Amino acid sequence: MLKTSRKVIPLTLIMLANVAVAKAQGINQVRVSKQTLQQHLYLLASDSLQGRKTGTRGQREAATYCIQDFRKHRLIAVFRTDSNRASFRQTYPFRELAIAPYGMPNQPYSRYELVPPPRTHRDSSRVLLGDNVAGLLVGTDLKQEIVVLSAHYDHLGRPGSRVYHGADDNASGTSAVLAIAATMDSLAQQGIRPRRSVLFVLFSGEEGGLIGSEYFVRNCPFLPAQLVCDLNIDMVGRVDAAHRKQPDYCYLIGGPTSDSLRATAQKANTESVQLELSPTFDSEADPNRYFYRSDHYNFYRIGVPILFFMDGEHPDYHQPTDTADRIDYDLLQKRAMLVFQTAWRMANP
Ligand SMILES: [Zn+2]
Repeated sequence: MLKTSRKVIPLTLIMLANVAVAKAQGINQVRVSKQTLQQHLYLLASDSLQGRKTGTRGQREAATYCIQDFRKHRLIAVFRTDSNRASFRQTYPFRELAIAPYGMPNQPYSRYELVPPPRTHRDSSRVLLGDNVAGLLVGTDLKQEIVVLSAHYDHLGRPGSRVYHGADDNASGTSAVLAIAATMDSLAQQGIRPRRSVLFVLFSGEEGGLIGSEYFVRNCPFLPAQLVCDLNIDMVGRVDAAHRKQPDYCYLIGGPTSDSLRATAQKANTESVQLELSPTFDSEADPNRYFYRSDHYNFYRIGVPILFFMDGEHPDYHQPTDTADRIDYDLLQKRAMLVFQTAWRMANP
């Protein structure tokens, strides 16, 4: 962690240069730093975090790392701990159910379920704790309205002798959220602040059944009516088999209430990175069921319009070989910029 923070100075300079560009040529030219994305991703997917399984030391250390970064970029803590204090961390109790094969044999998979907080010492031995992390960038005249940017940072841990690094799933989305927060903070430092507030949220508990986001929406520090949309990023650093020849793409998945969000993302894309935005999986009836398989689904369930950004699947999906060296960082940067541009437009109606 110290090693990362020593590299702050050149990064800040790069971002300040970007802000100068923003003023001269408009927000469409703002870049999300590739170097920042890469640093976060290598750290999150490193052996030392042991695959970030929810309830383990690796997950807690990843949460601490993300909190330090949110703090460094002046985000505001939103989880009230008492009348005059708030935390970046939201901790929830859960239990892990028997490990069951999921689809393929040898696939390390277990289900999690939220439980009430333990009341006795005996209870507490069976209850695990997971953490969500969130930070708020406060808007200007519409600051009560909140654009949510989310990703899960947990992965499968170390079920056997090998670490499941989860570089694409989902150190890529986590890095994108951190780097976009840094970009917006850098703009805010130059007096360019969005009208609406932006909430950056990193969930755990995703891999065992989306329980981190389930707990978050049930115990949300904001009213559901304040949440304008959720832009969720889960797996954005790789290329699937269908796009080997033309890798500049991103799958977009929305819901029945996402039409204007889709249109905003398309406009943002045309005016900036110009990826191919593929609607292949953009239906609740799609047999892959991606619409139900990441944290945006819990926002959809409480009536918040959602848009889900992802790269599809590849042979390293949910394997120990999903490692940081296999990520396409140019593409990760373009997709992070697409999310930034979409979020910026949603935050400036
Ligand atoms: Zn996964």
